[in-house]
Amino acid sequence: MKKSRVYFIPGSRKEETGALSKKFETLYLALGLDESIAKDAFVAMKIHFGEKGNTGYIKPAWLKNLVHRIRQRTGRAYFTDTNTLYVGQRSNAIDHLQLAARHGFSLEKSGLPVHIADGLIGEDDEEIKAGLKRIKTAKIAAGILHADWLICLSHLTGHVQTGVGGAIKNLGMGCASRAGKLEQHAEANPRISAKACRNCGICLDYCPAGAIVQKDGSAAILNEKCIGCGECLVVCKFGAVKMRWGEDSSRLQEKMAEYAFTVWKHFNNQAAFINVLFQVTKDCDCMAADQPVIVEDIGLLGSLDAVAVDKASVDLALKHGRKDVFRKGYDVDWSLQLKHGAAIGLGSLEYDLIEIP
Ligand code: SF4
Ligand code: SF4
Repeated sequence: MKKSRVYFIPGSRKEETGALSKKFETLYLALGLDESIAKDAFVAMKIHFGEKGNTGYIKPAWLKNLVHRIRQRTGRAYFTDTNTLYVGQRSNAIDHLQLAARHGFSLEKSGLPVHIADGLIGEDDEEIKAGLKRIKTAKIAAGILHADWLICLSHLTGHVQTGVGGAIKNLGMGCASRAGKLEQHAEANPRISAKACRNCGICLDYCPAGAIVQKDGSAAILNEKCIGCGECLVVCKFGAVKMRWGEDSSRLQEKMAEYAFTVWKHFNNQAAFINVLFQVTKDCDCMAADQPVIVEDIGLLGSLDAVAVDKASVDLALKHGRKDVFRKGYDVDWSLQLKHGAAIGLGSLEYDLIEIP
């Protein structure tokens, strides 16, 4: 198997902001992006702005030098994300833009305009041919699809349904419109154990599809309404929401990898991936909370290969942390997205780690 290059710069979020910003710039230069991005190209900087109350998201101040470099190449770079399935501050473009601005992402504060790539309510997408095992056509946010270059800036975290969320998730799920996200989540419906349920009603408040009802002293999911977003799994404090982890998660991870492959192929080698291994948490930045850290800060990784950068990131996290910290959070075999990504040609599981001191 061909090895891909993954650049690694050790670091910690506790470092001085200017020094951290320099590290992002160093990674950008090591990836050869300064020479590759054409003058006046549209560059989509795909990022997660962090849900309201979340503290783990990539901070705009860390990206100052990188933004400065890109602006010297093109005046058409922008930060972008898509709307969420779940109810929150990122489920429509207006709330999403306001939250992004509060987290420091605006033309004035972070030096680039912000564009919500799938429109006001997640409806602005285009279908592109995938022709893969699970996905035949992928529904991708138009505001990403029409860019010339894609740079995925991903905060590596654990995840309730995919075990790990990094570059593949940012690319596959993060670039999909609402319809594309629904397609990936379809058939991943949890169930509620009536025995374990305390009937507290919290999951009813969080369910974006109104798919949970209280019946016979416990909550129950209406399968015909459930969109498989997994919110109820995260919010239930009593472990009453169950998932068939193996079956449901493997299907979801394969679909996500196929979406990622379709987006990556569309960009025809004009895509790069930067993973940030600071404040690695059990759940992703969609959680509206300051979550406990499960792995000490490691640093930044960059590659032109989404599979290799995620594999190297997880390998480093597992080396630094205790025994598989991601599986300790949720019993999900996170490796499936990597293996399926490699099998369909998204990237390589083999890599050379090039450390930049
Ligand atoms: S949050 Fe958990 S315990 Fe509360 S109603 Fe929902 S399933 Fe039951
Ligand atoms: S029942 Fe759970 S998984 Fe289904 S839509 Fe509601 S919150 Fe999402």
